[in-house]
Amino acid sequence: DLEIAIKVVIVGNGAVGKSSMIQRYCKGTFTKDYKKTIGVDFLERQIECEGEDVRLMLWDTAGQEEFDAITKAYYRGAQACVLAFSTTDRDSFDAIHSWELKVEDECGEIPTVLVQNKIDLMDQSVVDPEEADLLSRALGCRLLRTSVKEDVNVNTVFRHLASRCLAE
Ligand code: GDP
Ligand code: MG
Repeated sequence: DLEIAIKVVIVGNGAVGKSSMIQRYCKGTFTKDYKKTIGVDFLERQIECEGEDVRLMLWDTAGQEEFDAITKAYYRGAQACVLAFSTTDRDSFDAIHSWELKVEDECGEIPTVLVQNKIDLMDQSVVDPEEADLLSRALGCRLLRTSVKEDVNVNTVFRHLASRCLAE
C-alpha cells in the first residue's frame, strides 16, 4: 500500500498554543511550558483516513514567528495549514489575515483550517464568536474551536485537513 505523507504547517502569533497542539496531537501530552526540542523540525502521527494510511508531519517553529523570521524551508512543500489564534489574545486574531497571506505566498492555496484555541478560557474571551465566524467565511475555510489543554477538538483539526488533502 502507498502511504500518503502530508506536511502541515501551523502558523499564528507566539503563545497561541501551536507547539502545545503539535505535542498534544503527536504525543498525547500537555505542559505549561513546552519548549521545542532542539534539532527536531516536526512531529508526526499516523492515522487512517478514508481507508488510506496517512502520515501527518506537523511542523513546528522555534519561536521565530515572534520576530517574523520563519524561513522558507518551514513552508516548503506544505500541503495543509492551520491558522491559529487564541481566545484570550486579540492581536493573535487580528494577525490571522497576514498569516494567511504569508502561507498563500509561499505555498499557494492549500487546505486550511482556522483554529480558535484556548476555549477553556472562554470567560476571558476577547473575540466575539460572530467575528470568528465571519473571518472563517471570508477566508473560505472551516473554523474549529479547540482547547489543547482539555483535548477538545484537536483530533478534528487534523482529521479534517487529512480528508481535505485526500479529496484533492
Ligand atoms: P506557541 O508559541 O504558539 O507555540 O504556544 P505554546 O504551545 O508554547 O503555548 C503557549 C502557552 O499557552 C503555554 O503556557 C501553554 O501551556 C498554553 N496553552 C496552550 N494551549 C492552551 C489551551 O488550550 N488552554 C490554555 N488555558 N492554555 C493553553
Ligand atoms: Mg511554539
